[in-house]
Amino acid sequence: LGFTAAHSAAQRRVEKDFLAAIDPAQALAVNTALSARPQLVGTEGNRVSGEYATRRLREWGLPARHARYSVYTSVPKDIKVEITAPTRRVLSVKEKPYPGQEHLDEAVVGYNAYSPAGDVTGQVVYANYGLPEDYQRLAEFGVDVRDKIVLARYGGSFRGVKSKVAQEHGAKGLIIYSDPKDDGFVRGPVYPDGPWRPADAIQRGSVQYIFQYPGDPLTPGEPSVPGTDRIDPDDADNLPRIPTTPISYGEAQHLLRALGGPAVPTTWQGGLDFPYRVGPGPTEAHLDLDIDYRQVPVDNVITEIKGRTHPDEKVVIGAHRDAWVYGSTDNTSGWTSALQIAYGLSRLLKTGWRPERTIVIAGWDGEEYGLLGSTEWVEQLAPELRRGAVAYLNMDGTAGRSFGAAAVPALDDLITAVTRSVPDPAGGTVHDNWAAQGATTPGRLGSGSDYTAFLDRLGVASADIGFHSPNGNYHSTIDDPQFTHRFLDPGARYQSTAAKTTGLLGLRLAQADVIPFNYSDYARETLTYLEAAGKRGVDVRAATKAAQEWLRATERLESTRDRLLRERDLGGDRLSRLNRSLLAQERALTRTEGLPNRPWYRHQIYTPGTYTGYAVKVLPGVNEPLDQNDPATATRWLRTLTKSLDTAARSAES
Ligand code: GLU
Ligand code: CA
Ligand code: ZN
Ligand code: ZN
Repeated sequence: LGFTAAHSAAQRRVEKDFLAAIDPAQALAVNTALSARPQLVGTEGNRVSGEYATRRLREWGLPARHARYSVYTSVPKDIKVEITAPTRRVLSVKEKPYPGQEHLDEAVVGYNAYSPAGDVTGQVVYANYGLPEDYQRLAEFGVDVRDKIVLARYGGSFRGVKSKVAQEHGAKGLIIYSDPKDDGFVRGPVYPDGPWRPADAIQRGSVQYIFQYPGDPLTPGEPSVPGTDRIDPDDADNLPRIPTTPISYGEAQHLLRALGGPAVPTTWQGGLDFPYRVGPGPTEAHLDLDIDYRQVPVDNVITEIKGRTHPDEKVVIGAHRDAWVYGSTDNTSGWTSALQIAYGLSRLLKTGWRPERTIVIAGWDGEEYGLLGSTEWVEQLAPELRRGAVAYLNMDGTAGRSFGAAAVPALDDLITAVTRSVPDPAGGTVHDNWAAQGATTPGRLGSGSDYTAFLDRLGVASADIGFHSPNGNYHSTIDDPQFTHRFLDPGARYQSTAAKTTGLLGLRLAQADVIPFNYSDYARETLTYLEAAGKRGVDVRAATKAAQEWLRATERLESTRDRLLRERDLGGDRLSRLNRSLLAQERALTRTEGLPNRPWYRHQIYTPGTYTGYAVKVLPGVNEPLDQNDPATATRWLRTLTKSLDTAARSAES
């Protein structure tokens, strides 16, 4: 894909050497060293693990530097959750220790980053997953959450969305808990007997409104470096507005058991062994969240290998290096895979090899709080990345057995080809692993990890690559090296397999004569999105015509590519014009107007849904207004989308 016959033989040799350099024993050692101590952003453990990574990179002969920012962030002082009626009971916000957990005293208590501080007391209503339709159901029951504290379970949407929806319905506080039906004993044996969530394990997590914008709340669109003006926190659209905090099911059961009111619909019943009720009733809860807000250092670790022929064209590979606590799975695994890619490339460099394009490997800090490090870096380097970034490859979770990928359609073919070239630890190839799960096309990117600023702000073709096994350690203290290497990735073989897969993707993108993108598939998929939008009662004819033009232009582009690749004598000029056109495609899909009510988000085809947070919304400028019965706004954004498609078609003409 994208190589001339002459170059593809050389590329095969490079890939073979790269794969041979990836060593699971090294991955196991790196993961264990990095996640031996809590690594929360802004803490000493985080600084120490950053130093460890830079030391290893330098040992391998690679340049390593820090890209630092100062970001407005929450720091919890005292988190109190209690039942005040019918009988008083203080709920625990800590987990018990397990053997081998060092520095556990540094673990942050269970809390939701960016929750406002606050002291609220009120009756409690159970709202299932806290999705908009759950509140509709409550209204049908005649239950009003105004001035109440909502108790919702994790799942179904990003937790920041839950906080927003609770606030929109008038709740004064939100408690989120992990139900055993979703990731606890109903699924299987709990830790340490199995990988499921024990009664005391708390899912921490940010409730920042990433669907408005990620990164520093006070510098939307600008890097949080000295000299950048900060906005007032009251004006920061991505900050949640009601006190929100998480608890375990061991604690939540005391609240749930005491609720009155009607019995829940059957689908709302969780895994605890009594019939759930929606409330309210005699139960009263008290949240007293004492949380500081201050500027905290965010410290990305970056290594860059300069390209020989196209130093300004960059393939960026990244993984977040911060964690809620030890984070051996989330995301020391992905960062370990990224470091292994760096090691593999360092071995190639020792033989005198250099990549054609520049390869950047990044360990992002502060992802858990709201994609802080990746967003600020992208905002800082926006002009140069807009000119030269070829692709961004993300890894968030690589310790698990099942392969998964999400990407823009332009990368589907390349991802498929690469999965066929990498052996799977269970036998066969990664492609067989993927096929065993029923799907061998990537999903589409919403949000929840560090590709967001690359794709949604700048229009850099992006992919998210991972290996996952279902388990209940997410964002709790039990996500430590013992757990990961006992239940999820014994011998770190999958972390190494992820390094091979993402490494080959990076190598092909960095080396190909013609960048291996397929934009005709992208245009075809966009046409299906338009057809679906057309069925929702808006006039999509102009946008459809533009998409058809775009499709024809990309098909011409691809036949030019095929012809050039067959020719012996590659005209350097024609080739670089072709590559310029290919790079311009994804950029064209972004517009500086942004999206309705969220100008930071510029991509017109894919964004996180305002009411999902993680899951993708396609043609968001059209479909979200239609969801809100606002065809006028949808029609306005159809014109914006049409301009994007026109630009894409024009830039496909090289
Ligand atoms: N991946 C993290 C989470 O799901 C961070 C998402 C965010 O807040 O930006 O909690
Ligand atoms: Ca910023
Ligand atoms: Zn993560
Ligand atoms: Zn996480």
